[in-house]
Amino acid sequence: MKKRVLITGAAGFLGSHLCDRFLMEGFHVIGMDNLLTGNLENIEHLFPNPHFEFYHHDVSKFVHVPGELHYILHFASPASPIDYLKLPIQTLKVGAMGTHNLLGLAKAKKARILVASTSEVYGDPEVHPQSEEYWGHVNPIGPRGVYDEAKRYQEAITMAYHRVHGLETRIVRIFNTYGPRMRLDDGRVLPAFMSQALRGEDLTVFGDGSQTRSFCYVDDLIEGIFRLLMSDYPYPVNIGNPEEITIKEFAEEIIRLTGSRSKISYQPLPQDDPKQRRPDITKAREILGWEPKIGRSEGLRRTLEYFKAKVLPIHS
Ligand code: NAD
Ligand code: UDP
Repeated sequence: MKKRVLITGAAGFLGSHLCDRFLMEGFHVIGMDNLLTGNLENIEHLFPNPHFEFYHHDVSKFVHVPGELHYILHFASPASPIDYLKLPIQTLKVGAMGTHNLLGLAKAKKARILVASTSEVYGDPEVHPQSEEYWGHVNPIGPRGVYDEAKRYQEAITMAYHRVHGLETRIVRIFNTYGPRMRLDDGRVLPAFMSQALRGEDLTVFGDGSQTRSFCYVDDLIEGIFRLLMSDYPYPVNIGNPEEITIKEFAEEIIRLTGSRSKISYQPLPQDDPKQRRPDITKAREILGWEPKIGRSEGLRRTLEYFKAKVLPIHS
């Protein structure tokens, strides 16, 4: 009998890659999504697979899954700043009520659960790079607070279920990840820059572009998540690529890579935009034997193929 795994947020960027990976590993996969920010196109290739099922459901409402469940991966949530600014209440609900429902389901099914947390729990960090011991610097009532605090609550309730009910829990703190199946218009920096460069539009750098991020290719992230789920470590683990770059350098890199004539146009910096972000991945290295394998030039090259086909369908 195949092990059965529930993946929430299955029609999204990361959820759809997780569905692929778990099917490849021989699991029976139940994908769940309400299509709030996701797209069925990301998983339509899986519909003919008899070991894949899809439930169209909002996990902030009671979640029912018939039969056995061995693992749950909770990835449902608006994830890009423009999505969660547009959907603040849904973001809070899926982090709080959605997580509560899935913890209850895990308890009822005696399943192991992994929840998707984020580097945003560190807010605009005053410690650099960010290790799991850092408690963060978050503005609870700022525009990003709806996402940051939902994820912080998610971590708190997950640890409570672990401590009170002995539930097998895992928490992954994901740093900026990119790759095929990101939504072109999700407002995150990579889809924004790549689609602008491919259309010959100016790249919109927010602020002076001196803020930094560290970008992880999706295949590396999925490997880290798989290893964390299969480990016995219940505390948060950072998964990300520590290669750090300023946003201005990133824009220049994408202009070079695409061979575009686009220039940079400077736009106002959004409120509470973190000035620096780089994961300390010592824990992932030591506990999971994991580190990223795909550097930015290779990852960007692979991602460009996907974006070219979306932005310039005639030439693809
Ligand atoms: P995404 O928007 O592509 O995917 C999220 C999916 O969740 C979408 O398909 C959406 O329709 C679904 N969803 C949202 N609310 C739902 C609800 N109430 N019920 C059911 N489905 C719902 O985003 P993503 O980048 O794939 O992010 C997935 C998860 O990973 C999120 O929890 C996010 O916070 C976390 N994360 C992602 C990154 C990253 O760089 N991509 C970084 C940190 C954390
Ligand atoms: N950013 C930018 N131009 C854009 C989109 C984003 O300069 O068109 C900047 C944004 O201000 C932030 C960084 O790029 O400093 C990463 O933004 P993203 O939305 O991808 O994710 P974040 O790490 O802020 O959650």
